[in-house]
Amino acid sequence: MNKKIEMLDNLTINKIAAGEMIEAPHSVVKELIENSIDAGASIITLEIKEGGKKYIRVSDNGIGIDEEYVEQAFMRHSTSKITSIDDLNSILSLGFRGEALASIAAVSQVEMITRTADQAHGVMIEIVGGKIEAAKKVGCPVGTTVIVKNLFFNTPARLKFMKSNSAETMKISKVITLLSLSNPGITFKYINNNEIIFTTPGNNALSQAILSVLDKDTFKNLIFLEEKGTDMKLSGYISQPNFVRGNRNLQIIYVNGRYIKNKLISEAIGEAYKEKVIINRYPVCILNLNIDPSETDINVHPSKTEIKFEKEGQVQEFIYKSIVETLEKDSVIPKLQVTEHKCREEQISEPMFISSAETGNPKEIVEDMDITEDAMINEIDEDYTKQSSFLDTLSSQYKIIGQIFNTYIILEKEQSIYLIDQHAAHERLLYNRFLKEIEDESVVSQKLVEAKVLELSNEDYILLSDNMDLFIKLGFHMEDFGINAVIIREVPMILGKPQDFSFIYEILDEMRGNDNIAGHFEDTIAKKACKKAIKAKDKLDHYEIKQLIEELHTLVPPLTCPHGRPIILTMRQYDIEKHFKRIQ
Ligand code: ADP
Ligand code: MG
Repeated sequence: MNKKIEMLDNLTINKIAAGEMIEAPHSVVKELIENSIDAGASIITLEIKEGGKKYIRVSDNGIGIDEEYVEQAFMRHSTSKITSIDDLNSILSLGFRGEALASIAAVSQVEMITRTADQAHGVMIEIVGGKIEAAKKVGCPVGTTVIVKNLFFNTPARLKFMKSNSAETMKISKVITLLSLSNPGITFKYINNNEIIFTTPGNNALSQAILSVLDKDTFKNLIFLEEKGTDMKLSGYISQPNFVRGNRNLQIIYVNGRYIKNKLISEAIGEAYKEKVIINRYPVCILNLNIDPSETDINVHPSKTEIKFEKEGQVQEFIYKSIVETLEKDSVIPKLQVTEHKCREEQISEPMFISSAETGNPKEIVEDMDITEDAMINEIDEDYTKQSSFLDTLSSQYKIIGQIFNTYIILEKEQSIYLIDQHAAHERLLYNRFLKEIEDESVVSQKLVEAKVLELSNEDYILLSDNMDLFIKLGFHMEDFGINAVIIREVPMILGKPQDFSFIYEILDEMRGNDNIAGHFEDTIAKKACKKAIKAKDKLDHYEIKQLIEELHTLVPPLTCPHGRPIILTMRQYDIEKHFKRIQ
């Protein structure tokens, strides 16, 4: 039997297309605001309720849509922005596919009110699940308002995929943040559940827009950048190398005002800051690259955040150079703690003998090795038994020979010598200690003399509010302090040092985009411990070495740092003597 082949009806086509383009409320927000920007608006208001799932409103004072084209605007592939394929090469508007309104209307209840300057009245149109329910003349100001209610009401599968209200709100906040930063000439008003989250001044000053949407702390650490190349221009702000975040979330790049993600550019930024920031830390930047649109291809993905460059190498080189030169001009060299280092160097280390005699049964640490030249140095890494015996013997008698390369402690113990990576060892100890404190809810906090109000970006604020309990458990005693702010009264003491607020940012960055916060939490602490640990190259005095060794024996194998690097290297006397041919 032949199956009948039929054309899908428009409603079905639009619903399928919506699946690709409209992923969640934030996609609706992005499309609607981009339309407002394309319409030349100078004031754009976004209002959302319940994470945008129930209600999204975007109002603008742009050119509006002529009465006779209102219905057409909701048809698939209808756009006023390009007329032929050739226009794609010079595209500067944000939209051009003519799909957004059709897609949104297919999967929600949409109402649009719009008027152009040369019409005396406006039009109101209501579309439910792609079907026009009502259209009438109304009185309204010039511009367009689109209200989207009950997104995905007719696509249950999509509905199920939506995240919590705050998770969806965070994504929307990110969308409007990105659009506000690329359009400092537009006033953006953002309202969530009847509260004004931010308003940007729209006075063309990027610095003012940054100040309105990001936190003050970030702003204070930014350097202005403006560099011209032969046929490219880069402008915006980059952070001083000592101001970093835990991920690339705040590396915001635009190409001709369009937010993009591009590996080449990320690499160029990373390269420019190389050796100035520590590994796995990312400087902040808000940069716009102006380039001839015909040398780019933005049409690689419907969500349009990817971009291809015709002259990839040149773009990468230009961005790299611009950042390096700006950093040089600013002559911001990460502040080395010179004073602290000097203090340590004054402490002269001499070999110190702890044990009076070699008592007890000497234990063979490595018993069953084939002796070869290469096996002379045996890394105690995975072998738990050997590590346990090291720990056992450690608790008895040992001799500290000293420290080499300001990094490794040398111990003599029975028939072996041990090299201990002090940094890795310390890191492991701190990690264990702090983890236990968190588990026991016994993190010591210190009351601040003056409570500190921490202003955050809306995304960070939502994340923090949602996880307030966790922060309290960590020793940060804080309360909500109105929109985008918390007041901190107590901070945790880690190793006797009160923590600063950068710890909060680090944890937030770690949590971001991670549903499984609990699983990642330990890692955050490990990283934190890492930072607090003695840096390799720091010279330790004997008292410090002794303390470290004493504490090491409280560990259970594996003897690795929280990141898996080994702590101890062993050399047996037997192997050494064998090497020098003293024994056979
Ligand atoms: P695209 O933006 O890709 O052209 P859309 O489906 O988003 O496609 O919009 C279709 C058309 O509707 C646009 O090309 C534009 O002419 C009109 N339009 C949509 N939103 C607005 C708005 N806020 N102001 C003026 N015109 C609009
Ligand atoms: Mg559009």
